[in-house]
Amino acid sequence: MLHGEIMIVHETKKILQQNHQFAKKMFGQNFLIEENILKKIIEQGEVSSSDCVIEIGPGLGTLTEFLAIHSKHVLCYEIDSDMIAILNQTLSSYSNITIVHQDILKVDIKKDIDTYFPKNSKIKVISNLPYYITTPILFRLLQIPSISLMLFMVQKELGERMSGKPKTKEYNALSVLMNYYATCSIVHRVSRNCFYPVPNVESVLLLVLPKQNDYSVNNEPHFTKFVQNIFSKRRKTLINNITSYYPFSKEEITQVLLTLHFPKEVRSEELTLEDILKVYQQLFFNMK
Ligand code: SAM
Repeated sequence: MLHGEIMIVHETKKILQQNHQFAKKMFGQNFLIEENILKKIIEQGEVSSSDCVIEIGPGLGTLTEFLAIHSKHVLCYEIDSDMIAILNQTLSSYSNITIVHQDILKVDIKKDIDTYFPKNSKIKVISNLPYYITTPILFRLLQIPSISLMLFMVQKELGERMSGKPKTKEYNALSVLMNYYATCSIVHRVSRNCFYPVPNVESVLLLVLPKQNDYSVNNEPHFTKFVQNIFSKRRKTLINNITSYYPFSKEEITQVLLTLHFPKEVRSEELTLEDILKVYQQLFFNMK
């Protein structure tokens, strides 16, 4: 294969057959077979020759090939040894790809960044994610300051929750926590026919731009739990959700809400991240 000659995307079924392989459900294997979506990913990720890119789950190497053509270096992690064997053939003509045979959830990504990428590189994470690890991997990646952009193919409903806005049905604890760390937006809707095999769910491309943390909250793990708790019962008021988990009286919480000029019947889904931060700080640390 000549460098720059795109072919894996058109040959997905053939490559699987030739290697006596099939898509494995347990690894969330739905391969991208639509070239326009790959072009869209490169465009939305603004991938350029100075970028170092991390890809999670290269599969047959379809997206990896596109990324390698447009970027400086691609570091990819694949859990499935059958895919590793195929990748060693499909991507053999690219010298700017590092393939690591590992479960991404067990990898020290920061250490690998230092090992494989030049110091002070511009790092992007771009991936057609296996759906079952989307949330845990995202929160791990958000802890790595050198990552400037992430672009993920995710299940539509999850993408909508992650980018959810107050007073909508998609808005929940995940929306608030994502918004704490990053600005998230859906940049493209992707039909299920763009994959082989065709999945049961629709997908979206989610752009995640980490915030250079604007917020300094006391005790982040405690705040994370607080956000999860106050969204646990959607139909309850904020006061009732708080009293279900913490030893405050309704009067104490009412006082905090009134100090912050929120009605006492307010529900979590009506509050922005900034509002929730204020309630949290005032409630637990007596500070706005
Ligand atoms: N990138 C390919 C594409 O777009 O056609 C394949 C995407 S497929 C949705 C997800 C890929 O992630 C599969 O190749 C699967 O084997 C791999 N994978 C699943 N779980 C993984 C994990 N924990 N660590 C690394 N790779 C994983």
